[in-house]
Amino acid sequence: MSDMTTVVERLRGDATVFSVEFFPPRDAADEAILWRSIRELESFDPAYMSITYGAGGSSRDGTIRSIARVATETTLVPMAHLTAVGHSVAELRHVIGSYAAVGVRNILALRGDPPGDPYGEWVPHPNGLNYAEELVTLVRSLGDFCVGVSAFPYGHPRSADLDTDTLHLVRKFRAGADFAIAQLFFQPEDFLRLRDRVAAAGCEALLIPGIMPLTTPRTLRKTIELSGASAPSSLLNRLEPLSDDPKAFRAEGLDAVTELCERLIAEGVPDLHFYTFNRSKATRELVSRLGLVPARA
Ligand SMILES: Cc1cc2nc3c(=O)[nH]c(=O)nc-3n(C[C@H](O)[C@H](O)[C@H](O)COP(=O)(O)OP(=O)(O)OC[C@H]3O[C@@H](n4cnc5c(N)ncnc54)[C@H](O)[C@@H]3O)c2cc1C
Repeated sequence: MSDMTTVVERLRGDATVFSVEFFPPRDAADEAILWRSIRELESFDPAYMSITYGAGGSSRDGTIRSIARVATETTLVPMAHLTAVGHSVAELRHVIGSYAAVGVRNILALRGDPPGDPYGEWVPHPNGLNYAEELVTLVRSLGDFCVGVSAFPYGHPRSADLDTDTLHLVRKFRAGADFAIAQLFFQPEDFLRLRDRVAAAGCEALLIPGIMPLTTPRTLRKTIELSGASAPSSLLNRLEPLSDDPKAFRAEGLDAVTELCERLIAEGVPDLHFYTFNRSKATRELVSRLGLVPARA
């Protein structure tokens, strides 16, 4: 698997690049949509693409199948998400082995949430793992992988406070993580403060902001839900009055996201990681506006 490029290698340049995230298809129709988007984004040369790992069995197979196809049939650098939910260590080894077998060298190692209720009590598999940190160690022990982890600008909802949250993030780096992708946030400062906390803890880490193209009221609600924070009134006052006008909402939402990304680029972030929801149009528009696309695209 050593001839496959790593995420870290793709982020080595001085300029900010972009990457894209998809979720595994549920059925044939979903799969067709996913693949159209993957092909549409391929010519934009994202630094890497990732596919999330679901809580259920069939979507997990979908992740492995789709990432295998990306590795073998496209020019894209694939990164597979993996969570510890419901898996014994033996099963985790097996999934990691399946990723390696198709040439996937990049893994985003996550603890995951309890299935059903993400805020419910975390019960580890009796022969499984408790924290993402342990999954980082496991992946690292199994081969020459480039490993990413998650980070939380407002702190993970289960963390007692920001200091403990930072400590646990730093532990994931010390366990061998190469980079972290941050959960969604609203203002550039929210991400920059996370970066400052990690730096203050003496950790020289590669931190990547996660970006949601705000095209619809639904994507705004999803951003609020995932971020674990309330949206600032400046953003709500800008977008909520347009809730019944899809075209105007999309235009204003993408303007707001462009401004956020411009600030992050000016701050020297290595990569902007876009949540695509398996559609490519908004991401293509944004990266074109931000000048992150090779001339031939
Ligand atoms: C970029 C990104 C991608 C994601 N992709 C997926 C996906 O594909 N599939 C999916 O199901 N979910 C995904 N998630 C969601 C993620 O699984 C959840 O947020 C989950 O609740 C936490 O996972 P983690 O890896 O951050 O856990 P951890 O890093 O293990 O942290 C979980 C909690 O435990 C604390 N903690 C960590 N280590 C220790 C320790 N040693 N001792 C005590 N406490 C500790 C942390 O501070 C935190 O509060 C993603 C999240 C992000 C940001």
